[in-house]
This record gives sequence, C-alpha cells and structure tokens, in this order.
Amino acid sequence: MNELVKDCMKLGFGLMRLPQLADKTTDLEQTKQMVDAFIAAGGKYFDTAYIYAGSEPAAKEALCSRYPRESYYLADKLNAAAFACSSEEEAKNEIKVSLERTGAGYFDFYLLHGIDAVNLKRYDSYGIWDYMHKLKDEGLIRHIGFSFHDSPALLEQILCDHPDMEFVQLQINYADMDNRIIAARQCYDIATRHGKPVIVMEPVKGGTLANPPQAVKDVLLRANPTASMASWAIRYVASLPNVMVVLSGMSSMEQMMDNVSYMKSFKSLDEFEQKVVEEAREVLGRTNVVPCTSCHYCTPGCPMEIHIPEIFSVLNEYKSYGNLAEARNNYGWRTGGPKASVCVQCGQCEDACPQHLPIISLLQEAVDTFEN
Ligand code: SF4
Ligand code: SF4
Repeated sequence: MNELVKDCMKLGFGLMRLPQLADKTTDLEQTKQMVDAFIAAGGKYFDTAYIYAGSEPAAKEALCSRYPRESYYLADKLNAAAFACSSEEEAKNEIKVSLERTGAGYFDFYLLHGIDAVNLKRYDSYGIWDYMHKLKDEGLIRHIGFSFHDSPALLEQILCDHPDMEFVQLQINYADMDNRIIAARQCYDIATRHGKPVIVMEPVKGGTLANPPQAVKDVLLRANPTASMASWAIRYVASLPNVMVVLSGMSSMEQMMDNVSYMKSFKSLDEFEQKVVEEAREVLGRTNVVPCTSCHYCTPGCPMEIHIPEIFSVLNEYKSYGNLAEARNNYGWRTGGPKASVCVQCGQCEDACPQHLPIISLLQEAVDTFEN
C-alpha cells in the first residue's frame, strides 16, 4: 500500500453519482447507509469536487458530520476551467466554498481538476500550482495532485514541470488501455516512472463495463458465471501495482455491496483472469459503442439543453443489442429533453468533453437512427 493512504481498502467511494430521489435531489438516507457499509468494510477514501452538483453537501451530511475526521480521507478538487469559474479570484475561492459545503475542516487530497491542454493555460496563468502549496502551508490540504484527461506527452510535460505533485488521478479501465485518445497504459506508465501513485477514475467507464455488450458478457460469464461484470473491471485496475485507490462512483446500495464483496479482501487477477480480460477487451474493441462516461461535463453549457449522455446511452443499447423498436421507445422517454435534432452545432459540448468525443456527429447518428 502506498504511503499516502494507510490501512485503507483499495476501493474509493466516488461521490459524483449518488443515488437520487424522484425529484432528482440526492437520496441522503440511502447515501448514509452506503457510507456506513463502505466504512464497515474497511473503506476510507471518499472523492468529491466543487463542480459535482449536490455532492459536497451530501458528503457533509452522510460522512463529515457523522464520523471522526481522522477516520476517513476526503479528496476534493479545484476547477479553473471556463465552465466552472470566470476569474482567478473565483477559482481560488472554490476551496473556501468546498470547505463550507463539506464541513471537513481540511482536505486530505486536493486536486487540480480535469487538466487538459485547453484548461491548463488557465491553471498556469491563475498560478494555481503555487496556490496549492499556499493552501498546504495553511493546513487546509494535505496532499497535492491533479486529475488528467489528455495525451501522454502532456502528462510527461506536466510531471517534469511540477515534480512536487504527489499523485495523479487517471482514467484507467480495461477498455481504454490502448485507446488512441485516452492512452491509459501509457499514462499509467509515465506516472509510475515519475514515482507518482495513481488514483484511478472511471474503472467501469461510466458504467459501460458494468453492462457491456452481450459478446463481452459471454466471455466473462464463461470464465466465471457468478462474478459481476463490474468486478472484472475494478479488480483489473486494482491489480496494477502502482494504483493507490480505485474510485467507483456508486449509485446504489446494490452496487456498493457488490463492490465491497470483492474489494474488502482484495485479490489481484491471476494469470488466467488476466487472459480473460484481454479477450474481453478484444471483443469489446470490435463493437462500436460510444465511449461516453456520463460525466455530464458537456451538458450545463448546451444552449439547447440536450441530454447528451442519455442519448448516447440509448444509442449504445441499440449498438449492443440491436433492438431498434425498444431503443426508439427508450429514446422517446428516457432521454427526457430536447431531441438530438435540435442541436445547433455550436461545439461547446465538444470543447468540454474529457473523452474528446465527436459529439455533434454522434448526435447526428442518433437523429438518423431514432428520429428518421
Ligand atoms: S453542439 Fe449541439 S449538443 Fe453541443 S452544446 Fe451545441 S447545441 Fe448542445
Ligand atoms: S459526451 Fe463527453 S462530456 Fe458528455 S457525458 Fe459523455 S464523456 Fe462526458
């Protein structure tokens, strides 16, 4: 186990996709029960962010006001991207807001959030890298790192420019290891070479690997008929030796109980299981599902209020299972807003997407598939 966390289950509780009530507010009672179950299983690491709607207040209610401060680790994030703040002052004030919302007193891990080539200029010009040290000196944060959504070359450059960063948060899952854009394997290797422990985000790729196409399920079920699809994905990344914590954005008690069942006493994948995952990756690579992680970074700025990830989710169901009638029906009610055809092609969503998806052309595919 890495020195930055001690006596801690390798599974971290991502507080980004908490269970919701019918009115779309956080289901606090269920969240409290999930926090209790997580801690009872040996979990300590919780992850929230200034920009996760409703997440920080939920952390306060379910965690910070109910457990002794030294009994858990809380990670939070400063976001200097254009969609999150409009000035240096606003960016630097985020920690004050986050501390108030969570009532945590300090953050064990504090990250520059979602670094990519575009927003890096804002983090640089606002002096956020140095600001992190000031916060540390003031005792408001304990460990400094950043989450990252860009190329291996940029990661290498940042780690050379900022050797003081203590850890890196990367998108790693078995589907993205050799993905041309995410390049998870290369990014992991770079962080390891620089001696930075890795926190994994999106181990199940926004839920995609918890319910993969049937051909992938067949591979995994043949190898083990009782293991959940998510267990393969999470154990795969947790088996990487330089991974400190694997974040899972759990949305229900059922997911929590499944995750802790195999992470409580974690065992790395053995040689046979590694080969099974390799086969699953190959089969998945032959499907053409949209690699959207449902992060929703694209939606707040959409002038037409299009529910982009929900549309992609329905498109993926169709691509995976081929049932057009059902997919059309789901497109009608589950996407819950303006249809893909109202897109005015302003491009805002593509700038915000950490997966660098060609959203406009994918929406056109949804129009062609479901609306014509
Ligand atoms: S390109 Fe279309 S989907 Fe994207 S933000 Fe603009 S209107 Fe919305
Ligand atoms: S399209 Fe991109 S930004 Fe939008 S939810 Fe999917 S991955 Fe996130």
